[in-house]
Amino acid sequence: MATVIDGKAVAQSIRSEIAAEVRVLSEKYGKVPGLAVIIVGSKKDSQSYVGMKRKACAELGIKSFDHDLPEQVSEADLIKEVHQLNLNPDVHGILVQLPLPKHINEEKVLTEISLEKDVDGFHPLNIGKLAMKGRDPLFLPCTPKACLELLSRSGVSIKGKKAVVVGRSNIVGLPASLLLLKADATVTIVHSHTSQPESIIREADIVIAAAGQPMMIKGSWIKPGAAVIDVGTNAIDDPTKKSGYKLVGDVDFEEVSKVAGWITPVPGGVGPMTVTMLLKNTLDGAKRYIEKNN
Ligand code: NDP
Repeated sequence: MATVIDGKAVAQSIRSEIAAEVRVLSEKYGKVPGLAVIIVGSKKDSQSYVGMKRKACAELGIKSFDHDLPEQVSEADLIKEVHQLNLNPDVHGILVQLPLPKHINEEKVLTEISLEKDVDGFHPLNIGKLAMKGRDPLFLPCTPKACLELLSRSGVSIKGKKAVVVGRSNIVGLPASLLLLKADATVTIVHSHTSQPESIIREADIVIAAAGQPMMIKGSWIKPGAAVIDVGTNAIDDPTKKSGYKLVGDVDFEEVSKVAGWITPVPGGVGPMTVTMLLKNTLDGAKRYIEKNN
């Protein structure tokens, strides 16, 4: 049976480390990290993610700057808000909650965030540096960073291993594969046009699943002893639950946990780590800024 990686516990221990560093900054410089979160409109799941991020900031002593803008805000006004936050010395990280309404060009807005405050790591220059040998981005995207942190804190070595990433989105699959490559894995990416994904996945020592396809990856697709990180978060009907649904990953947990060496559960795996990596990025941004300006 696989070792189940407890994302909640790992996240909690990293949060304690962050809180300790925030206290040191506060005692040494009288300053704390600041995270600005911009949310446009009232989309329910975006509101709940943002609420979670703000609560986590409060728990760790990180100051949060709330910017709730109406659904019909213009692209120009949103960019103006970003520019003001770029100039605010108390803000060390800026996050624009995605998706944005259709009338706003997401890429244009994300590109306006100062590189030094791009705590989501989505600025094309940060992603570009991630893809280049010998260059390091200022920030790594939170979910892929969470996946690698879970592997390293579980004692899974990456160097020289065969890794397969399922999915190639800009926010998860692609940066996860670039991070694995930087960590010296041999990386293959599986996407919706890949034929016979199971034969490719079966070769992998490390699998990162981020396709958004409920329980797609079966036990017979996994090499015995492989490390399986399940990013997928899919709601499926469950009449036994009060809500009428439950969350499952892209991995068939019951089958795969009998074959793999390590596995992350859904929920309780990558999810709690993603917000924690955002807080870590904010701390790192603050440390860079405060140390440079004191
Ligand atoms: P996207 O829909 O943007 O991307 C999905 C990717 O998976 C695409 O590259 C797509 O291929 C590929 N794909 C889809 N179907 C298949 C298939 N049958 N076989 C192989 N590849 C497939 O999703 P995201 O990357 O944003 O998210 C992926 C999952 O991770 C979702 O379930 C999401 O909820 C979850 N998530 C969880 C987070 C967390 O913190 N736990 C954070 C972010 C996301 P193609 O490019 O060809 O279309």
